[in-house]
Amino acid sequence: MSLEALAERLRPLLGDAAVLTHPVERHLYSKDAGLRRTEPGLVVLPTSTEEVAAVVRAAADLGVAVVPRGGGSGLTGGAVPSEPAVVVALTRMDEIHEIDAVGRTAWVGPGVINLDLSEVTRPLGLHFAPDPSSQSVCTIGGNVANNAGGPHCLAEGSTVAHILGVELVLPDGEVVVLGGAAPDLPGLDLRGVVVGSEGTLGVVTRVLVKLTPNPPDVRTLLMEFDEVRQAADTVSGIIGAGIVPDALELMDRKTLEVMEAFLHIGLPVDAAAVLLCETSGHPAAVAAEAALCEEVARRCGARAVQVAADEAERQVLWKARKAAFGAVAQMAPDFYLHDVVVPRTTLPEVLDEVYRIAERHDLHIMNVFHAGDGNLHPIMGFDLAEDGVRDAVMAAADELIAVTLSVGGALTGEHGIGTEKRDHLPKVFDEVSLDAQARLREAFDPEGRFNPEHVLPKGSRCADFGRPLPEGAWV
Ligand SMILES: Cc1cc2nc3c(=O)[nH]c(=O)nc-3n(C[C@H](O)[C@H](O)[C@H](O)COP(=O)(O)OP(=O)(O)OC[C@H]3O[C@@H](n4cnc5c(N)ncnc54)[C@H](O)[C@@H]3O)c2cc1C
Repeated sequence: MSLEALAERLRPLLGDAAVLTHPVERHLYSKDAGLRRTEPGLVVLPTSTEEVAAVVRAAADLGVAVVPRGGGSGLTGGAVPSEPAVVVALTRMDEIHEIDAVGRTAWVGPGVINLDLSEVTRPLGLHFAPDPSSQSVCTIGGNVANNAGGPHCLAEGSTVAHILGVELVLPDGEVVVLGGAAPDLPGLDLRGVVVGSEGTLGVVTRVLVKLTPNPPDVRTLLMEFDEVRQAADTVSGIIGAGIVPDALELMDRKTLEVMEAFLHIGLPVDAAAVLLCETSGHPAAVAAEAALCEEVARRCGARAVQVAADEAERQVLWKARKAAFGAVAQMAPDFYLHDVVVPRTTLPEVLDEVYRIAERHDLHIMNVFHAGDGNLHPIMGFDLAEDGVRDAVMAAADELIAVTLSVGGALTGEHGIGTEKRDHLPKVFDEVSLDAQARLREAFDPEGRFNPEHVLPKGSRCADFGRPLPEGAWV
């Protein structure tokens, strides 16, 4: 009833075409790239901050939950509502408002596609450094909300290092700007709180991004190994030698087979694994770094190291890496893409365990990941139509988390928590820190209407359940 009333209230403000109530239209927004699906009660497509604020105010009046949404490429159910809600899709707010090429910043709309931003700024000698493999479809707003990473975040840092400020519509409809271009702003870093908050604190309506200069030279190496372990050792060896390459990506044999069947570009499908290693900077430094990386790889057992001869060859190698998740359809009709981080030095043993888990549950598995920062992305391929397969996938995912935590790893490197990993949070945070996070969230959203049931598990707030705060907690 409230949703119908909300739709009626919003039509004159946004226009009929921007308020979607038909079941088929709503169905299109019922899922992200993960496995969970829930029909939204209502979808709106605002084009300005004022329209977003009007939607949020009306939702507040009628007590309706709000779920912000970007490109819908998230993998943890982040943009999938947990209750009848209004989904605020920001894709039409895709304007690049202002570029300051000298100051290397830009104000952009949340619906700007990640790759589009770099394509527009590249002729100015600049680009947006975070480059998720989904960069041709995901939005800057979604990158901010999930603190996205990408192959080149190894040297450059994840999204949080590239966001200087955000304009945010708060859950009561008020508009604030957090952060800004000036360095070292005083006060609490609320910009940093918003980055990675997964749509729980408000709707991001404009973003001040930092732009990175395009490097004068770049070299891309493809290192081939007969054992996955040798590739993993090379990763630790290169970082241990004092080099932080721009990117250090590992693809195993299954990935190479799937990619070769998809792209036909002569990938070494008989190798157990390859490492894609890229360095950039001044030509002399690049040559020296590339030589050192090759030396480490050969010492760890690389059977061949190829260097991309030109930009066209480099782009082909990156296509093989970035199209890997899409190409999984060559292997199975459905997939589950996991995201955990382990200490780099534990990669060889964790990878062995990943293969054992897949075998135990009879799942196809490919490994392609940001090896330089230990960010593992096992992709399980399966057919959901098969009996019991969903349970097997979930059991394998839980086992993978157990292995990760047992070696001192983290629940997620870049995809966020959403609803997928929410109930694992108490394994990594104690009561005091969960309660502190819940209270911070309440400071923005006292009624808990923004992305309810996402990120923090039920009972995070000690007071919710009449539990006393643990000893030592501050009030
Ligand atoms: C094939 C594939 C490869 C991927 N590779 C990577 C990778 O390399 N690195 C990586 O980090 N991720 C990767 N991802 C995951 C995903 O693309 C990223 O998390 C991305 O940042 C999500 O952006 P989106 O615009 O699609 O957001 P959505 O999926 O629409 O939303 C994600 C979250 O952000 C919130 N949100 C969206 N817009 C706003 C806004 N304006 N204000 C407030 N909250 C908002 C939503 O509520 C939700 O919680 C990959 C996904 C796929 C399918």
